[in-house]
Amino acid sequence: MSSIRDQVELVVASGKGGVGKSTLTAVLAVELARRGFRLVAADADAEAPNLHIALGVSEWESVEPYYEGRIAFIRRDKCTDCGICAEVCPYGAVELRDGHYYINEWICEGCLTCSLACPVKAIRYKFRVQAGEIRVATTRYGFKLVSGEIRPGRPNSGKLVTEVKNKAKSLLGGGGLVLVDAAAGIECQVISSLTGAQLALLVAEPTAASLSDLKRIHKLTKHFMAAPMLVINKYDLNEEYASTIEEYARENNIPVIGRIPYDDSVPKSIVSKTPLNEAYPDSPAAKAMVEISDYIAEEVLPNWRRWWAKYRPKKPEPYIPILP
Ligand code: SF4
Ligand code: SF4
Repeated sequence: MSSIRDQVELVVASGKGGVGKSTLTAVLAVELARRGFRLVAADADAEAPNLHIALGVSEWESVEPYYEGRIAFIRRDKCTDCGICAEVCPYGAVELRDGHYYINEWICEGCLTCSLACPVKAIRYKFRVQAGEIRVATTRYGFKLVSGEIRPGRPNSGKLVTEVKNKAKSLLGGGGLVLVDAAAGIECQVISSLTGAQLALLVAEPTAASLSDLKRIHKLTKHFMAAPMLVINKYDLNEEYASTIEEYARENNIPVIGRIPYDDSVPKSIVSKTPLNEAYPDSPAAKAMVEISDYIAEEVLPNWRRWWAKYRPKKPEPYIPILP
């Protein structure tokens, strides 16, 4: 049995979606569990969770409601239908129906603006609104999966991701691996995924857009002091550009730990709801992903502190989010 004495978080992330992140995470989880690592997988893409599909999970053993925030509503007995709240609401959540104003609770962000503006104090709030769910399953490979799903229109998916990770850590208990499948991009869900993580497995494709996204997600890992490593998916679609991405990695002290070829078996495995290494073990992409898992199992996790010290940034990079 392989073991890690500490609790280590490894986040699989990419600056954009559709680069094979969940397929790789599923293979990695299955292979590491096979090699005896204690682990819990966490699906941190709360707006579009799909790791359970990649792992063939069809039933949840627990589903807990996730509560957050507040939603405004209008007291009809006080409202004079002046319309001021509709004018000031920054989210367009106040609607006029049959001559009366109502708040659309799917859109309301609970920002308080309308209640501050209402001249007759007709706006009240509902608290502890159910905004999503946190689900747990035991996969057929023996490890647990925690998956969060935010309800459409609810904000704070980043907070839900934090809860998902906390649940995964408590299920893991002692030492072992929390393997996080992050959402695409660099928004709040990804920020929550990377907070506190020691290792980040970045996935890129050989395109100019993917390199630009890689630079953005790499900047975020630097802010959170996570040690990055890189995998290039579908590298053979443009080997010249794959070299350009590798050059960026070399210049920025990011080890390239794998190259995955384009492979028709990947979409077929997604359709069959089975990890690629189980559905098509002899396919070139499955073999490449198993090699990546071997590398992480043998070179990264047993000596994760040394790895972290070697590849983490020497100081955190300031991160300035772009506000709307
Ligand atoms: S501002 Fe107050 S009184 Fe005016 S429409 Fe809105 S809730 Fe009613
Ligand atoms: S609380 Fe904010 S988002 Fe909700 S209706 Fe009022 S102004 Fe709009």
